[in-house]
Amino acid sequence: MRAHDKWMKKIEAEYEVHECPKLPAAGVEVIFDTQLHQSRGTWRLSIYREANEEDLEANHYLENIGDLLWSKSVEIAFCPYCGKDLYDGACHR
Ligand SMILES: [Zn+2]
Repeated sequence: MRAHDKWMKKIEAEYEVHECPKLPAAGVEVIFDTQLHQSRGTWRLSIYREANEEDLEANHYLENIGDLLWSKSVEIAFCPYCGKDLYDGACHR
């Protein structure tokens, strides 16, 4: 198995979404996943922006509403919206 395939399999196996009742309707997600160059999964706050109709008119490289314009993520231990301890009290270091 190639290194990339191994990495993809690992990501699929470890990917998890925190289903949060207080999460804003769009643009943010709390996910557990494995980043490049990380040996293990971490909980992350993922912030992203998807293309809307105006973006499509302004930028002809974009094809569909909902295309990802950019995203950033930061490692977190607690959900910033509902306060849940995402590692359930476990040490994550
Ligand atoms: Zn939450």
